[in-house]
Amino acid sequence: MGCCKAAALAAVLGVVAASGLAQNVGVRPSAGSIAQTQEAQAEPVHRWAVPNVEFLESGGVSAGGEVFATVEDYVQSDIFREHGMRCPVNPTEQDLLLADAMLRSPSDCSASFTSIEPEYDPANGAMLRIPVVVHVIQRTNGQGFIPESRVRSQIDILNEDFLAIPGTNGAPGAFAGIEFFLATEDPAGNPTTGITYSTNNTWYNDGGSYWNSLAWDPNRYMNIYTNSASGNLGYVPFLPQTNPSGIGLNSDRVVVLDSSFGRNAPIANYDLGRTATHEVGHYLGLYHTFNGGCGGGNCYTSGARVCDTNAESSPFFGCSGGRTTCGSPDPIDNYMDYSYDICMNKFTPEQVNRMRCTLFNYRQNLYQIAVTGPCSPADATTDGEANGEPDGAVTLSDFSFYLTLWSASDAAADITTTGVCAPVAGGGDGVDLSDFACYLAVWSDGCP
Ligand SMILES: [Zn+2]
Repeated sequence: MGCCKAAALAAVLGVVAASGLAQNVGVRPSAGSIAQTQEAQAEPVHRWAVPNVEFLESGGVSAGGEVFATVEDYVQSDIFREHGMRCPVNPTEQDLLLADAMLRSPSDCSASFTSIEPEYDPANGAMLRIPVVVHVIQRTNGQGFIPESRVRSQIDILNEDFLAIPGTNGAPGAFAGIEFFLATEDPAGNPTTGITYSTNNTWYNDGGSYWNSLAWDPNRYMNIYTNSASGNLGYVPFLPQTNPSGIGLNSDRVVVLDSSFGRNAPIANYDLGRTATHEVGHYLGLYHTFNGGCGGGNCYTSGARVCDTNAESSPFFGCSGGRTTCGSPDPIDNYMDYSYDICMNKFTPEQVNRMRCTLFNYRQNLYQIAVTGPCSPADATTDGEANGEPDGAVTLSDFSFYLTLWSASDAAADITTTGVCAPVAGGGDGVDLSDFACYLAVWSDGCP
């Protein structure tokens, strides 16, 4: 405990731990900032006309009146490329402006702009851990089955890419401080592998609103489904910013083509798990690198809404470099392009900033703050059951409870006005989870 504030917080937390109280005060500081005015949409926004795609019993694919013998033939076809089937998450500029016009109060990472802030820098906060459930959907003939080992490899890849783990394919990227793990408790609190298996031919072809049968509380779990993905490599139905009222609904999900899921997946060029990395990028608020083409003017309010990815006039397929479609090298190594898996290997620092901002502002109940090492008494294990959280997790509701005690016992401890984390909080903007993330980082730094 290096500093007085940490010591004071320790005292407060000690009170809670000693009392063994189980309470959830239910404070959600930023909930009011999320617009509730838009209808939830279950289908992704396509910019291009979409061919009617059906995965056939034979293992082939029917698309736009053509039949391809294999899924791999299909994903290498002109139809696949020309219709944006790599990933159809391409809202128009009008969509983005409309979404922001309906916001009651803006965030730093809205649909139409990004404001890079130090409070979203992973260097100033704790590791954010996201529980994942993977729903594997297969046909009655077995197509779509993914062994547990390959599901687990996909989670490993997400972590390699989001944590830029040295020695892995994701090493060149920016460290996001966002970690994924297969859920160890289901919504009822029972032990689980975090993987479900279903057999349904309609669901395999991405029909039948399977999410209403399969979803685990999308506010608290990232739900990934594998199936035909409607002929895309993957998609999310919306970005949190473009459809805030859809957040937490059963349809709030990530969908990935089964044959592009996990390490050494079956189809060439999309076999290293980067489809999921790309789609989770959308799920956390990122746009394609080619969004808005070359953009114009302010790179925080046009194009991909970050300034450290070069603009690009159109999606890039493949690996060979050298394109300069907007006067600078195209960012074909970025996870948010359409490049082959082996060639995409980075998120940029500003993309990371926007993703952490999205978690803090749009998905507050999704993540847990990692607590490890000798400071584990800060861990809110005592109310784990009350909140339905896995033991060992510190979540917003835990901190809300602590804050109540904290404020009652020592008004001067208000972290909006004093303390080492005050500059991060921005002053007067209330106490939110990012404040506590900062506190937790300070707390951990003080550990022996
Ligand atoms: Zn995409």
